[in-house]
Amino acid sequence: MSDFSPFESPDSWAPATQAIRGGLNRSPFGETAEALYLTQSFVYDSAEGANARFAGEDPGYIYSRYANPTVKMFEDRLALLEGAENCRTTASGMSAIFTALSGLVRAGDHILASRALFGSCRWLLTEYFPRFGVETSVVDGPDLTQWENGFRPNTKAVLIESPANPLLEVVDVRAICDLAHAAGAKVIVDNVFATPIFQKPLTLGADIVVYSATKHIDGQGRVMGGVILGDFKLLDESYRDILRHTGPALSPFNAWILLKGLETMDLRVRRQSDTAAQLADQIADSAKTRTTLYPLRKDHPQYEVAKRQMSGGSTLVAFDFGQQAKAFRFLNALKIIDISNNLGDAKSMAVHPPTTTHRAMTEDQRQEIGLTEGWVRLSVGLEDVTDLSRDIARALDAV
Ligand SMILES: *Cc1c(COP(=O)(O)O)cnc(C)c1O
Repeated sequence: MSDFSPFESPDSWAPATQAIRGGLNRSPFGETAEALYLTQSFVYDSAEGANARFAGEDPGYIYSRYANPTVKMFEDRLALLEGAENCRTTASGMSAIFTALSGLVRAGDHILASRALFGSCRWLLTEYFPRFGVETSVVDGPDLTQWENGFRPNTKAVLIESPANPLLEVVDVRAICDLAHAAGAKVIVDNVFATPIFQKPLTLGADIVVYSATKHIDGQGRVMGGVILGDFKLLDESYRDILRHTGPALSPFNAWILLKGLETMDLRVRRQSDTAAQLADQIADSAKTRTTLYPLRKDHPQYEVAKRQMSGGSTLVAFDFGQQAKAFRFLNALKIIDISNNLGDAKSMAVHPPTTTHRAMTEDQRQEIGLTEGWVRLSVGLEDVTDLSRDIARALDAV
């Protein structure tokens, strides 16, 4: 007897292996790199075959707005990595979040969210959904009493982001999921900042996980993409028809780039996060900064929650100089780190959120999340830590 098994279950692989080998579906040519199926539609052996395909009796491909083999490899790989039954992808992170929300609500329903959200998500809640008779409201994410009081009889969906953009606010995902489920609502977690490497919201009770694949999944500043993960039934019932008929489909070319991005994500995110932790300490130690926020630093306001639900601190650091002029002087003195609004890239980037990424918020909304004029958000890349540290020391001196 030997204990050799002819089949290795991909579920048992570590994330680094899953992100390289998950979902791989080779064509008869046996290519090493994933095949890129740049095709709009598919052909059938016979009219009967086309009939069967459209009737759903034959599971083959029909049209790339519905599904595509390269996109499917990307979806299968992500589902494996996240530990989700199913995955669907879209053209951008925002189309994923919009689809995820719109599939759960209809006129008369209510969406509850944490206040600290990506700017475009706030716009969806305050400007867009109310046009269609969907009520929305926000609470302070870390305050569980506000959550308890925030649910209404018609609350159907909860949207949270943890850590949140840009001030890295952390919310207790498990506690919020418990409250939401007791109130009959489904929970969507935007997991962009934590990545699947450091946080698995489904294991904390979330129903849906969304990503902007534009960020760490690509990780090299090339293409946009969005991801929706959850169980078969929910994704099928809530999103299948919306995706088919509204058409936010991910391009197969972009899916192919993102497949290659996933292969190095574990390596990149761990290294970037290690560097971010070191730079966070350097920035916090400077007399020029008033507050530095990094989820796994002991002085983070939600450190205990972060430690419980995250296995790494993330690739982002936020810090406050107290005045916009000082933040601008810091940014303008950087020589390696770019001034850019993107994040999760191999290139380090810093930005002044109040005048860029969070400009669409009103001054009051920014004040409510503590985003005053002196904040800078740093996305730490893959450059050598000593070079980045020197660049930051120089910029701090210039403040
Ligand atoms: C970038 C981002 C989004 C939006 O993703 P896009 O791909 O730019 O549409 C949503 N949520 C968070 C947290 C983000 O950082």
